[in-house]
Amino acid sequence: MGKKEQSKICIMVIPHTKKVRRLMIPSWLPKLITLSIIGVSISILLIITTITWSHSNLKEEYEDKISEINALQEENKNKELEILRLKNQKKELLSKSEEIEKKLEEIDKLQRDLEKMAGIKNPSRSSTIRRNIPPEISESSDKIQVLKETLELKEKELETFIDQMEERLAYLETVPDLWPARGRLTSRFGNRKNPFGRGTRFHYGIDIANSVGTDIWAAGKGVVTFAGTKGGYGRTIIIDHGNGYKTLYAHNSKLLVKVGDRVEKGQVIAKMGSTGRSTGSHLHFEVHKSGKPINPLNILN
Ligand SMILES: [Zn+2]
Repeated sequence: MGKKEQSKICIMVIPHTKKVRRLMIPSWLPKLITLSIIGVSISILLIITTITWSHSNLKEEYEDKISEINALQEENKNKELEILRLKNQKKELLSKSEEIEKKLEEIDKLQRDLEKMAGIKNPSRSSTIRRNIPPEISESSDKIQVLKETLELKEKELETFIDQMEERLAYLETVPDLWPARGRLTSRFGNRKNPFGRGTRFHYGIDIANSVGTDIWAAGKGVVTFAGTKGGYGRTIIIDHGNGYKTLYAHNSKLLVKVGDRVEKGQVIAKMGSTGRSTGSHLHFEVHKSGKPINPLNILN
């Protein structure tokens, strides 16, 4: 102990032929080599572990990303489908709205025609559809909103229009414009030769000749204000139609209504005859407007 030689290791190499060789190495060298090998091994092991770990991590991350991409692609596909569906819906709505516009225009036209036919002078209809939708509106939702408002407006307009029409039709029912009997027009309104004497006499109505018992119709809807014998007129009926109109039916053989009766246009009110000052079976028919006799031919259809 304590000597320098003790810290050395002697390695002897003994070949078969040549002489023995001695190698002197320090005793710590093998320990160092062993320790180094262990250290390097551990390092390599650590590196391998780290690489493996990070690789598996990366792989996991990669797989996550792949599935995320797949999900996004799926979502994208769904979005595209949704967009396609919405586009189709929009197209459908636009074509529907165009259809509605067309229908509204047709209604407008029909309304105008009806107004003309019924003779309504001041229609409530003030606007057409084209004027209601400004051309700059191209977004379907805006267009549909405008269309909705237009439809609501149109509905109100049509309600007013229908009211006016009903009023108009009710009025037209009262206008005495229906021929009161079938027959031959034998005398017109105006000056004529006096059939019962000399000179001319003003004829305040028209004469329609046919056989005794021919139906006499009310020329318009109204209320019977006279039903009885009236001097030269013979058996007579007078109807008040309102709005200043009155009609008179004379020379009847038979009266079928009485004072106070409400009669409809076309209702049979009497039978033709020759009562009163008459030269033969005929109807003497007068129309009065605001108390004055007017030419029945100007009003009869
Ligand atoms: Zn007459």
